[in-house]
Amino acid sequence: EELARCVGVSRTYGQGTAAVVAVHSLDCAVRPASRVALTGRSGSGKSTLVHLLAGLDQPTTGEVSWPGLGGAPTGRPGVVGVVFQGPSLLAPLDVAENVALPLLLAGVRPADADARAGDALRRAGVADLAGKLPEELSGGQAQRVAVARVLASAPRLILADEPTGQLDAAHRDEVVTLLIEAAEELRAGLIIATHDARVADRLPQRWIMDDGRLQEVRQAC
Ligand code: ADP
Ligand code: ADP
Repeated sequence: EELARCVGVSRTYGQGTAAVVAVHSLDCAVRPASRVALTGRSGSGKSTLVHLLAGLDQPTTGEVSWPGLGGAPTGRPGVVGVVFQGPSLLAPLDVAENVALPLLLAGVRPADADARAGDALRRAGVADLAGKLPEELSGGQAQRVAVARVLASAPRLILADEPTGQLDAAHRDEVVTLLIEAAEELRAGLIIATHDARVADRLPQRWIMDDGRLQEVRQAC
């Protein structure tokens, strides 16, 4: 069953003459084994679509549903995992605590949460950073930790919004590899929003946004 589905979804920011239609009458289906590069110019609506699919934002009209996930992911940690472009780690917590926090919020016992966080950090190749504070990390390290945090909560769908936007080439490739490996391991769907063709080329499916519309959905060759 589809992990997520959009039917006639629009999202407008602002009112009246100042209104911006960020996503326009959009239909899409996220299948369980999706490996989608969501591409398109800056301002084309990629980030808005990611937020809608994550349940972090609501459509102005139309419907987003999650038939294969037992309903909206909102308030249910471990269903949809999201990686953003910039720093998303909580500054006062060390890396291990950041990775364990969503599990604790989901009601996992502290000892189990710590164990799962440690395991996720190892799988993401950043176990040595466990005791560091976010401010001590490079951009690439911080993104690997963000992926570890997703791994720890074992979601069925992984969404990433320009996860490599602030990284150099080597770290860019590393983080994309890690996201693809995480999706394989968790048997999760994966959607990466990116305007970087070198990132998009790593994924077999392409959704192209243009001015709020999903212009083209194809299998990359
Ligand atoms: P990107 O192109 O990488 O998505 P943007 O500069 O478009 O980055 O957006 C960065 C952040 O600012 C996003 O959270 C977006 O929702 C918000 N944003 C973008 N445009 C506006 C705007 N006109 N008014 C208020 N917030 C905006
Ligand atoms: P992308 O991720 O492709 O850069 P976005 O979804 O961030 O696109 O933005 C789509 C359009 O919506 C842009 O015109 C942007 O300026 C506008 N927008 C995004 N977020 C906001 C916001 N919070 N308030 C007002 N306008 C916004």
